[in-house]
Amino acid sequence: MQYDVIMVRYGELTLKGKNKRSFIDTLANNIYLSFADMKELSFEKQYDRFYIKLQTSSDIDEIVKRLSKIPGIHNFSLVKKVDKDINKIADVALEIVQSIDNSSYSLFKVRASRTDKNFPLISDEINREVATKILKNTNYRVDVHNPDFVIKVEIRLDAAYLTIITYDGLGGLPLGSSGKGLLMISGGIDSPVAGYLMLKRGVKIKAIHFSSPPYTSDMAVFKVKELLKKLAKIQGQARFINIPFTKLQLAIYDVCGDKYAITVMRRMMYRIASIVADNEKCNCIITGESIGQVASQTLDSLKVINEVTNKVIIRPLATYDKLDIIKISKEIETYETSIMPYEDCCTIFDPKAPATKPKHDECLRFESKFEYEALIKEAIENASIEIINLD
Ligand code: ATP
Ligand code: MG
Repeated sequence: MQYDVIMVRYGELTLKGKNKRSFIDTLANNIYLSFADMKELSFEKQYDRFYIKLQTSSDIDEIVKRLSKIPGIHNFSLVKKVDKDINKIADVALEIVQSIDNSSYSLFKVRASRTDKNFPLISDEINREVATKILKNTNYRVDVHNPDFVIKVEIRLDAAYLTIITYDGLGGLPLGSSGKGLLMISGGIDSPVAGYLMLKRGVKIKAIHFSSPPYTSDMAVFKVKELLKKLAKIQGQARFINIPFTKLQLAIYDVCGDKYAITVMRRMMYRIASIVADNEKCNCIITGESIGQVASQTLDSLKVINEVTNKVIIRPLATYDKLDIIKISKEIETYETSIMPYEDCCTIFDPKAPATKPKHDECLRFESKFEYEALIKEAIENASIEIINLD
């Protein structure tokens, strides 16, 4: 079946009141960018829908793949556009049904709706006319409660829109409509998922990673970049800031002992991320922390770690179980990379008995024992910055 148009339905942004127009503009721009190489397509932006006009040469599978990665789209349908004449509508509905290539289907339903209230037939009458045509010419039967497929007929002002194939979109908000965030990305399972959930909320992402060569290998950084490439499928590209963390980490382990090393280390990470977030004009820091997952993620730990920054810290996974996080990481194809066995800077100096209820005063006591400000400055000055593109 040669479809004429893809009809895109907006997600949550339909609730955005006065800002709706700017959300739609942002989404439209993201769609234009995503299809910049497909010169044969043309687009129509409307207040309640977005249309992509197809040509016979259009690669539908590729278009579907790209649309399903654009945040802010609720769903989208392959559409046949027909003159508003009930006989023509019924003929085309039959054509679409005859093109179905699924032998397990036997039951259908027609669902008509009218934006054009001047159309001479009401929705029930349209349903009946279209269903009768299909019943007379095929072996399909009607089941309004449990159909295998639904033929949707929308009578709009300019034409009738017929569709049976609808794909889910990502949902969320258009990318760029919610500012920028600095993602603290380790090579683990959690942080790429946290980044993905933020992209879905329309937040553009830059990434910061702490590496401790020679204790961590080049492969660990390679792994993080591979993870970012997966996220770049949604965003196009991402800025990657790699912070050399070895000197600070060694100093921390020198003065803090087993109990406080992790807490102080994470305070240092947050201090650095806060400065980098300012430099990079990010209005929040994003982490993959989840309440109670490890010693440094108890509420008591998060409190003392948080004390070193006044930045908004977003923890999209705060309430997620690990199994749910793994499920998303498989869906976004980061899981296989995340489980590659390269040491992260958190795991190499893994202390045996980290504090689960660290105290603010104790942290200050340990931190007063070394000149961490100078080490932080040096680490930021020696950061390497790269743009990560799609493969
Ligand atoms: P992940 O699976 O993402 O590695 P985790 O469960 O291993 O997380 P931690 O190692 O305690 O948990 O880290 C918590 C969060 O701190 C990570 O999700 C990430 O946001 C950040 N983080 C940890 N290590 C690094 C690192 N080397 N570079 C940048 N951010 C890091
Ligand atoms: Mg980790």
